[in-house]
Amino acid sequence: MSLIITDDCINCDVCEPECPNAAISQGEEIYVIDPNLCTQCVGHYDEPQCQQVCPVDCIPLDENHVESHDELMQKYLIITGKA
Ligand code: SF4
Ligand code: SF4
Repeated sequence: MSLIITDDCINCDVCEPECPNAAISQGEEIYVIDPNLCTQCVGHYDEPQCQQVCPVDCIPLDENHVESHDELMQKYLIITGKA
């Protein structure tokens, strides 16, 4: 499943450049994650990179976008043009 940024976000901009899928962008008030691009970093890293760097720990899993590891890998292959 993708991750989601909660309103605890302090707009520090640390996570955006760390995302290998360019899934993170500045939203109207806080940073947002595009669920169509977030693979939980599957295909790139063992751990979600945004979670690793967020200083306020405000990027939980998005329960509204449940996906299996295989589905995330398939998304990664499509995004990167390897499918
Ligand atoms: S988990 Fe990975 S792919 Fe998803 S938003 Fe965070 S850094 Fe990007
Ligand atoms: S690292 Fe955390 S606090 Fe900083 S912009 Fe990203 S989600 Fe917001």
